[in-house]
Amino acid sequence: MKQFSYIRVTSSDAAIAAVSKDKSATFLAGGTNLVDLMKSGVTGPERLVDINRLPLTKIEETKTGLRIGALAKNTMVAEHPLVVKHFPLLSLALKAGASPQLRNMATVGGNMMQRTRCHYFYDTAMPCNKRNPGSGCGAIGGVNRMHAIFGASDKCIAVHPSDMCVALTALDAVVTVKGPKGERKIPFGDFHRLPGDTPEVDNTLQRGELIIAVDIPFNEVGGYAHYLKVRDRASYAFALVSVGAALSLKDNNIADVRLAMGGVAHKPWRLREAEAFLKGKKATVENFQEAARMVMAPAKSQGSNEFKLTLAPNTIVEALKLAAANGNI
Ligand code: SF4
Repeated sequence: MKQFSYIRVTSSDAAIAAVSKDKSATFLAGGTNLVDLMKSGVTGPERLVDINRLPLTKIEETKTGLRIGALAKNTMVAEHPLVVKHFPLLSLALKAGASPQLRNMATVGGNMMQRTRCHYFYDTAMPCNKRNPGSGCGAIGGVNRMHAIFGASDKCIAVHPSDMCVALTALDAVVTVKGPKGERKIPFGDFHRLPGDTPEVDNTLQRGELIIAVDIPFNEVGGYAHYLKVRDRASYAFALVSVGAALSLKDNNIADVRLAMGGVAHKPWRLREAEAFLKGKKATVENFQEAARMVMAPAKSQGSNEFKLTLAPNTIVEALKLAAANGNI
């Protein structure tokens, strides 16, 4: 493991100054992904700026929704009464992720910043444009059953691994970040990016910007929610395909609906076309199947992940059925 220096800061300004001035520095929060990456030599920051003492752990109701501090632990968010009451989809997605021990350590901001779990990214003997730009992509033409079916490029076909981020995308969350030039807000759907020609860049943060909080606006899709995660093991495994679905129903008509997928693209994949199709229609299996067909039109297999072309639409339909039946959660 490469040697590094460590400092602990107690203000966001000090944290931002430390990382924006030093290209080899990075923020350390829960460390549940970063430390693994450092141990295996995938990344090698020369300076860790520990932000765990910053006052960014609050979960509080605002006039328009819920504000979750970037350092709130995943367990704390999943079990918070306001989250369970207003945004059960987020609670369900968080509980589907990782293991209880990891959720106790991992923070909201860190969850957003976690890197792909593509095996080639973690194997420093293999080519990987994300780890080593210009070296090639081992997964294209290689073992790629976990990889993307939407939005991939000829440089990278990796997927984003988070469950929490799928729910936050569906719920129209907004990220507040702070950098050397002050604060700005990023719609959650614009936070992560597609790989294009620069797969080494996972998100739209600028150098030195720190995630401060995530705001989720109140909505009408509260109680009818389900997060369906299909994976190789019953727990502690990343999604082959996941679907976050939330509905509001009036006389079995869909008044509003939110849909997003995980395990299928380099970013959480919002299904806006399917949402527009479903609004105002009956909550029937036939309509759910038609919505899933629309979603799959641009899907493309990479070889070993051909099965996702069948698994994904089936998961969409099943998640919507379960969400529609879950009005009492
Ligand atoms: Fe690297 Fe992306 Fe290719 Fe995986 S899919 S080997 S992360 S470039």
